[in-house]
Amino acid sequence: MPTLRQLFLANNAQTTDFPLLLEFERAEGVYMFDKQGKAFIDLISGIGVSNLGHSHPYVINAIKEQLDKYMHLMVYGEYVQTPQVRYAEKLISVLPANLQSVYFTNSGSEAVEGALKLAKRFTGRQQIIAFHHSYHGSTHGALSVMGNEEFKQAYRPLLPGVNFIRFNEIADLDQINNETACVIIETVQGEAGIQVPDTAYLQALRKRCDKTGTLLILDEIQAAFGRTGKLFAFEHFGVVPDILLLAKAMGGGMPLGAFIAPHHIMSALKEKPILGHITTFGGHPVCCSAGLAALEVLIDKNLIATVAEKEALFKKLLVHPQIKGIRGKGLMLAVEFESFDLNKKIIDHCIANGVITDWFLHCSNAMRIAPPLIITAAQIEEACRVILDAMDQCS
Ligand code: PMP
Repeated sequence: MPTLRQLFLANNAQTTDFPLLLEFERAEGVYMFDKQGKAFIDLISGIGVSNLGHSHPYVINAIKEQLDKYMHLMVYGEYVQTPQVRYAEKLISVLPANLQSVYFTNSGSEAVEGALKLAKRFTGRQQIIAFHHSYHGSTHGALSVMGNEEFKQAYRPLLPGVNFIRFNEIADLDQINNETACVIIETVQGEAGIQVPDTAYLQALRKRCDKTGTLLILDEIQAAFGRTGKLFAFEHFGVVPDILLLAKAMGGGMPLGAFIAPHHIMSALKEKPILGHITTFGGHPVCCSAGLAALEVLIDKNLIATVAEKEALFKKLLVHPQIKGIRGKGLMLAVEFESFDLNKKIIDHCIANGVITDWFLHCSNAMRIAPPLIITAAQIEEACRVILDAMDQCS
């Protein structure tokens, strides 16, 4: 029999350095339970997925109800499936008026692919601007716009015509010109170790895109659905994208993504005879039912209203000489340490003591704090006690 580690080596490629390889059997609310029944506080939410916590009864019920109707009938074409219509209508009702056309995908990476293709079709241009330390997914197009040379060099050749500029640097915006099809940017950078841009910067970026006829793609795959303290992160900055990318929490725990654009832009994908974007399972009815239920709970229970005070509590409690700084917005936080080695020791200690956290793909010396939005003050205090104790124990 292969060991657990051998069985899942590929899936866990980023995490095989962990001394612990935990097998989880059950999860509820902010807790995950291993095979022995030990409870762990979840401070990562499956990387921004489980915003309502695990096993939310309303979401599970919506999944069960849809399972009794059908799972999958037809891809896009002459037919649409009712859960897609209901979820698209709900999304449009909470989005700015220009974002009316929803294309559902299976994942965040697929939403990125669709958006890049749409930007090329609509503008007739090929050049793309992306950002240092960005992360947009693992498929070839998404890798092409990832701002980390080390992680992508083995996969070249990638998409041509991608230029990287510095995040939050107004001086670099003049590299966007009349040949640029699109700018793809995370509204709040996630895997860079949570980088929040200045409002003036995003507004200048919006202006520059308008001036040059460039489409602004905001990747909110990690930051949307209340994570930063607003339903969509762009609401903090007074900027509206031409194309919005969603996934992760969008499916309420099920695999679902979308790229969303105005009708007149989205229509470019339909012009014949060139193929637009086709997906068999994108917008799966069970996933749309789960996602719609999750969004209803998020809004109806007003869960986003408490995010800022929970952010403040983490920031108040996490004070320690080992901490170099805390960055982020809402419950999308990064705690920075001196080195990767120290961060890893602290993280391992946290996991061994019942708190699940990790580091960032492009920022290995920072620890992720991204719990389900339903986390209580008592649970935050419990998690912070474990983290502070880990800092005392590790050097
Ligand atoms: N964009 C961002 C900002 C992400 O954080 C991620 C996933 N970490 C993706 C895109 C890719 O999403 P997926 O893993 O669903 O393909």
